[in-house]
Amino acid sequence: MLNYDKLVRPEVFRLSPYIPGKPADEVKRELGLERVIKLASNENPLGPSPKAIERVREMATQAHIYPDASAWALKKELASRYGVSESQIILGNGSDEILILLGQTFISPGDEAVMPAPSFPVYRTSVLLAGGTPVEVPLKDGFLDLPAMAEKINKKTKMVFICNPNNPTGAMVSRTEVEDFMNKIPEGVLVVADEAYYEYVLDPDYGDLLPYLKRGFPVVVLHTFSKIYGLAGLRVGYGLVPEEVQAFFNRVRLSFNVNAIGQAAALAALSDQEHVERSRRVNEEGKTYLQAEFRKMGLKVYRTWGNFIMVDTGRDCQVVFQKLLREGVIVRPTSAWGLMTCLRITIGSQAENEILVSALRNVLT
Ligand SMILES: *Cc1c(COP(=O)(O)O)cnc(C)c1O
Repeated sequence: MLNYDKLVRPEVFRLSPYIPGKPADEVKRELGLERVIKLASNENPLGPSPKAIERVREMATQAHIYPDASAWALKKELASRYGVSESQIILGNGSDEILILLGQTFISPGDEAVMPAPSFPVYRTSVLLAGGTPVEVPLKDGFLDLPAMAEKINKKTKMVFICNPNNPTGAMVSRTEVEDFMNKIPEGVLVVADEAYYEYVLDPDYGDLLPYLKRGFPVVVLHTFSKIYGLAGLRVGYGLVPEEVQAFFNRVRLSFNVNAIGQAAALAALSDQEHVERSRRVNEEGKTYLQAEFRKMGLKVYRTWGNFIMVDTGRDCQVVFQKLLREGVIVRPTSAWGLMTCLRITIGSQAENEILVSALRNVLT
């Protein structure tokens, strides 16, 4: 028998597989249900922009052609939107892939990276896979504790991850918190701001990191087409970065890491800001409705700036999750994050939100 313990890299033993939201079809199959709604992966309930769908159709006939490895058209459009140069944009097979490749580019064995916990699990994976050490800093009632994170920075620190708004809690980091934090970052540390829900944030105090990139700070600002743009299945994410970061990133990434259909759909999605506006409006209405309903049920509701809400059910969330499945509703239990009584619920369409509310009432009474 082959001894895989010797064959496999030691770093791999420290990883645990990512637990994705359950696909609706799987739940239908397993439980024999006809109607299943998924509010587990923060997908856009309106789907993609019709303009993006049209481009996907057109591009299907070109599926035999390799993608543009430089993603020229998409980079040009993003550069003009954000007022940066094309050489300041990196693209990935989702921002997930960018996170992994940043680890591969910057982290060596023995290096440390500071990150909030609980937060998006890929930061940890990225650092562990590269042989580095994740230094996790606990949240304070759902919010990032940036002063505590800054204190964890030492000579071994290569990267710091900010998740803003934070997944799974929904909390935002404000402008002044970011300003204080950036003033404490020593030279030689890359700050990675994961702003996957950036387009959902309407708060004028939002501490977006793009202004720091423009002022010359070594920051990576990550956005994605998976959330408000409704293209999660096509896998396109991007980063706004210093030119040097793009140059090193390009050595590490595979040439065709962003597929041709994804590039075309992303470009079309950007041109449909009405769809973005509509998505934001549906999200705001759903947020108000769900928060009120959850409070009526007596649940602790965490404040959110994204398209999902974390609630504390006060009971074993795996049990609540399983019962909701039988009601045909998929949500995300937060036990994998160590929060044993909470659920993270994506804000859906009004119809989906009403189904969720009635199912949750059934389950909790
Ligand atoms: C959804 C999400 C992403 C990843 O999205 P991709 O589909 O890989 O672009 C990154 N960060 C956070 C916090 C997310 O919630």
